[in-house]
Amino acid sequence: MNLVLLGPPGTGKGTIAKFIETTFKCTHVSTGDLLRDEVAKKTEIGLKVEPIMKDGKLVSDSIVLDILKKRLNEFNGYFILDGFPRNLAQGKMLDHLLDELKISLDVVLEIDSPVDVIVKRLSARRQCVDCKRIYGLDVPSKNEGLCDDCGGKTILRADDKPEIVEKRLNLYNETTKPLSDFYNEKGLLVKVDGNRTLQEIFSEVEKTLKKFESD
Ligand code: ADP
Ligand code: ZN
Repeated sequence: MNLVLLGPPGTGKGTIAKFIETTFKCTHVSTGDLLRDEVAKKTEIGLKVEPIMKDGKLVSDSIVLDILKKRLNEFNGYFILDGFPRNLAQGKMLDHLLDELKISLDVVLEIDSPVDVIVKRLSARRQCVDCKRIYGLDVPSKNEGLCDDCGGKTILRADDKPEIVEKRLNLYNETTKPLSDFYNEKGLLVKVDGNRTLQEIFSEVEKTLKKFESD
């Protein structure tokens, strides 16, 4: 089953993606993580996108499409796409890319939450600098500032600062939210209420996706 995950930042998308990855054996592909990787490695792309990401703006469609293509070509299994598409143009790019690779998209899962909950979540969020694992209100690390899995440092992402969060949310509503209609018209959209505990979200996601897996 190939899947796209939609939803504003701060809905636990990354954590939910990891859950789906282990439960349904799809590979988690996060364009945000791929871009942060380029930044960390100080590649040509990384140097270019770093200031854009710090400011909470969107990286150009062509750069993101390139790194996504590269990633999808590296494996044969199923994927769960997180962070792409982020606007209608990218939605159409993904259609073409999947046609080209003869891959079908099976379901688009949209997670939604109220704004105040999102802001609270994001300011509590930390990410491991090494393995990229996310910690938050629901899942803090055992030792503050250190990753449970690899012992790496956990930090507040530059774009999780409150003033940047507001920008990202506005951007989401203007440019990403329209994808919900785009996929609804294709009959691929399934919505999940993100304003609950992660355990509750996990069990609904599992129940919902089981139906698609057997198709
Ligand atoms: P979040 O979903 O929490 O905002 P991500 O990790 O998905 O964070 O993305 C972080 C940043 O990476 C974005 O703010 C943007 O600058 C860049 N980015 C990620 N995916 C895309 C994309 N598909 N198109 C353009 N920019 C992207
Ligand atoms: Zn770690």
